[in-house]
Amino acid sequence: MLELERVVKHYRGGGEPVRAVDGVSLALDAGEMLALHGPSGSGKTTLLLLIAALLAPEQGSIRFGGEELSRLSEGERCDYLHRDVGFVYQTPQLMPRVSALENAAMKLLVGGVPLREASAQALPWLERVGLGDSLERTPEQLSGGERQRVMIARALTGEPRLILADEPTGNLDSARSREIVELLHAVAHQHGAAVLLVTHDLEAASIADRHGTLRDGRLSEGPGASDAERERRDAGDTPGVDGAGREQREADSAQRPGARETAGTDDAKREQPLPLSTRA
Ligand code: ADP
Ligand code: MG
Repeated sequence: MLELERVVKHYRGGGEPVRAVDGVSLALDAGEMLALHGPSGSGKTTLLLLIAALLAPEQGSIRFGGEELSRLSEGERCDYLHRDVGFVYQTPQLMPRVSALENAAMKLLVGGVPLREASAQALPWLERVGLGDSLERTPEQLSGGERQRVMIARALTGEPRLILADEPTGNLDSARSREIVELLHAVAHQHGAAVLLVTHDLEAASIADRHGTLRDGRLSEGPGASDAERERRDAGDTPGVDGAGREQREADSAQRPGARETAGTDDAKREQPLPLSTRA
């Protein structure tokens, strides 16, 4: 459903350009959840913004449903962002003095869906994030974690095919984090959405189908083990958190000619590319 090939994005401001995303390739299928890890500044948010077509890559290709995002017209790009993508921003962006229910319904309201219908669609998602009794509260009357959950409900309302969640559990306690990650997992597995979850919470994220780690804009497979663990893993034993699926994935991608073609430019050998697909 989503395919990235050797995507590069620099930021140019004052001095040296920052190579925020450096030759990232990955594929994500419908019904699959990929957890993306990596230290602060490693390019996670930039990668999500590129996938949402809110930023344009300088090199490489990003396709959704076979369509190259850079070739979309302005109108098509807006449709993609509002209809196909559910984006949970790292900092909640809610309308002040507007109820949680209307905030959750906002994407539909902006898209012209009448208030009653938009609210009816948003309601079950607010309930699923545990805010069923806070529908009328405004952002000013909600805690940081509650505002974040309204954002999650907004992203899921309308059942977009691709969910991009940028540290959605950053303000939540560990029990609530786990619930949210389980909800995103259920959205992938029950509704067939492709979910890309950026998180520092390895434990909550352990239910993800796959893991990737960004370092200095480069993506490698796995949950970001220490160097010693990586060496052992590279040598063939001690699978990471995602160990269970690993052998099957390797078998899958081995059967798929060209499927391992990927990340990295000059030192591709050092990188462990994400298999292009884990499902038939
Ligand atoms: P993460 O989400 O992993 O913390 P980001 O994608 O936000 O990483 O940032 C990746 C790199 O790009 C960092 O070095 C950051 O300082 C830089 N960066 C991010 N946004 C901008 C911007 N708008 N202008 C210039 N540099 C940026
Ligand atoms: Mg970020």
